[in-house]
Amino acid sequence: MTMRRTAQQALEPTVDPAWVLGQQGFDPLRDSSRESRFAISNGFLGVRGGRTIDRLPHTPVAPRTYVAGLFDVLAPDQPIPALVRAPDWLKLDISFSARDSDLTVNDVSFHHRMLDFRRGALLTESRIARSPGLAVRLRVLRLVSLHRRALGLQLVQLDVDAGAVEATLVASFEGVEFGLVTEQLEQGLGVWHTNSPSKRLAMAAAATLFVDGRVVAPKALGPFKWAWTWATSPGQAVCFERMVAITRADAPAENPGEEAQRQLGSATAVGWRGVLEEHEASWAARWRACDVLIEGDPAAQQALRFALYHLNGAANPDDERVSIAARALTGADYHGHVFWDTEIFLLPFYTLTWPEAARALLTYRFNTLGGARAKARRMGWRGAMYAWESADTGAETCPEHAIGPDRRVVDILCGMQEQHISADVAYAVWHYWEATGDAAFLRDAGAEILLETARFWSSRAQPEADGLHHIRGVIGPDEYHETIDDNAFTNVMARWTIRRGLAVAALLRQLWPERWAALSHDIGVDDAELLQWAGVADTMATGLDPQTGLYEQFAGFFKLETIDLASYAGRSVPMDVVLGRERTQTAQIIKQADVVALMVLLPDEFAAGAAARNFSYYEPRCSHGSSLSAALHGVAAARLGQAETAMRFFRQASATDLADTHAAIDGGVHIAALGGLWMMAVLGFAGLTMDASGLGLDPRLPDGWGNLAFSVQWRGRHVSVRIDAGRNTIRARLTAGEPIAMTIAGEQHHLAKEAPLSVPFAGKRTGASAI
Ligand code: BGC
Ligand code: BGC
Repeated sequence: MTMRRTAQQALEPTVDPAWVLGQQGFDPLRDSSRESRFAISNGFLGVRGGRTIDRLPHTPVAPRTYVAGLFDVLAPDQPIPALVRAPDWLKLDISFSARDSDLTVNDVSFHHRMLDFRRGALLTESRIARSPGLAVRLRVLRLVSLHRRALGLQLVQLDVDAGAVEATLVASFEGVEFGLVTEQLEQGLGVWHTNSPSKRLAMAAAATLFVDGRVVAPKALGPFKWAWTWATSPGQAVCFERMVAITRADAPAENPGEEAQRQLGSATAVGWRGVLEEHEASWAARWRACDVLIEGDPAAQQALRFALYHLNGAANPDDERVSIAARALTGADYHGHVFWDTEIFLLPFYTLTWPEAARALLTYRFNTLGGARAKARRMGWRGAMYAWESADTGAETCPEHAIGPDRRVVDILCGMQEQHISADVAYAVWHYWEATGDAAFLRDAGAEILLETARFWSSRAQPEADGLHHIRGVIGPDEYHETIDDNAFTNVMARWTIRRGLAVAALLRQLWPERWAALSHDIGVDDAELLQWAGVADTMATGLDPQTGLYEQFAGFFKLETIDLASYAGRSVPMDVVLGRERTQTAQIIKQADVVALMVLLPDEFAAGAAARNFSYYEPRCSHGSSLSAALHGVAAARLGQAETAMRFFRQASATDLADTHAAIDGGVHIAALGGLWMMAVLGFAGLTMDASGLGLDPRLPDGWGNLAFSVQWRGRHVSVRIDAGRNTIRARLTAGEPIAMTIAGEQHHLAKEAPLSVPFAGKRTGASAI
């Protein structure tokens, strides 16, 4: 029989420090960054790690809750859909009054915040020790359920060590923020709509307070507000629990209030223990599928667990109408918009450890094809041109202006020119199909994305007198250079997309002729058009110099001024701020991995030795002005066998969201950089590769990493890998699925359930898979 868990036990963090991120004290200047770092989320709800109880009057923001997909235009002067914040459902005020003084819990002598990665919960502990003879220990757990995504739980334990005073606890909801209009507000239920009446949000809540195990009746002070008063005594234990169910609706016929009450009812029926157990079981399942173990480097281990914690909280396999924002659900930067970050930096993780989530994310791109087709039409091209920044409909949501560091208004051209997104989406679709063999997805959704993006690129690249097709007037991943021609990344990815479009047409014809007949009819594609696509792909300008193997990042890049970035080491601002926009645009200074990104995504486009040559040309020219840059450099360096260089990038990416000395992350965690940490470990250091025949490993661990272990899923197989530098062995186990071929350090092996592999590990790359 299992023992009933007490609140005391529930409030204890996981013992092993490798599973917990802790932080003590309160620093008003850093608190907003910490709210991002300590956020909890479940792919539907995201709650920043703000303090609930001891909020000082000058604390800037209440814990904010974001609801995936709840977008609206908030103000006429900012005509861009942004995530609307839900009311704060965690607010608590506690006060103690004795004969001669009142004390609110604003003054705490100690505050400790602990993010428990393993259990997906934020725990806090505070102590109040003040005259008249009062000593109270306050512990709070907060989670949004990974099992019931509409549900939030707050559990509070207040232990009175000393003091006989009158205590009052008020639980309320922080006022509705900007962008929400109240429809209904009563005890325990609120329904709001955004500026658009059809976009609705509902919250239902229930709260109970126990003193020494006995329920205390609340005074209902008003809508969403309860108060309890009791007399404290030394040794007393007070437990408070609050559950909230949050729902949203887009259609007038839906009733989010009723749905929230239904969800709340079923959660209160299982009680907080049941809710906590289900939630922990869901997290345990995620950790079994995706944990990465690094022995010998506690900092790297913690950084990776932190990354995996946020990645698992960012996705929702059950919602195909949303994708993951550049800051996930942890902050307001970029308004909750979705970029290429998802397809290039996050999908590798989801596809290989959580294919259900990957499928939902890619189905979002299928569901937003309408927006992408409309954008292509508007700009005079055919097919699907995805939004550089996407929200709920797939329409372009990239702002057209911003205030630059010099306080001047600058035009933002990304929405029009950063077109590589239409190849990045196709790339993720194809890789998902290859890695999962999910035929239904390819047939019903993926194929249409591949055909429509191939069609876009075939119309976008234009033939010129030199006999080649050119793509002029774009921005590549390196956003410092605008309106450029023939960006190698864009053109080579476009060519690849067109070829995948042709491949999927052939596949549909062969496997599902009826689907091909219907789809080709619906979108109006015929053999003549496919022939035109093939012609474009075969004559695409790429900027590759066959003599040197170097790709020119874009036409004219090599002629730009060379600036020695090393002489700017130690700068605290990005290079475009140091030099100014104009000068940066005329220099070989790169914002982020561009040719290096291509090298990571399409290694076969680099002949033997060319990858190393391109890396040594471009890496010193990269200023890493984006948090996305380090990861791709890290993967490239690791694959080239430069483990220590790769490690430098791994540490750089880890610091983005974890180091207090680093830039403020008030606007949310950099989820792409976090996805990049997984990529560096698994695709970089472990050297995992995939092709039609099976999986490959070609590890090279950095100094100090004794053991690297991880699991992946590939075409229905579950494979666990352990690279043991101490014992010089690589072990692989098949825990589910049919046997597969595995190439380890260049040698072919056969992996079956009953026959785990254990092969010698030389610690050196063979070079066979070096990009
Ligand atoms: C980067 C983009 C990225 C965006 C959102 C920008 O600073 O240059 O590549 O998609 O941030 O993360
Ligand atoms: C990013 C672009 C983005 C723009 C507007 C810039 O900081 O680098 O990728 O489109 O902001 O959101």
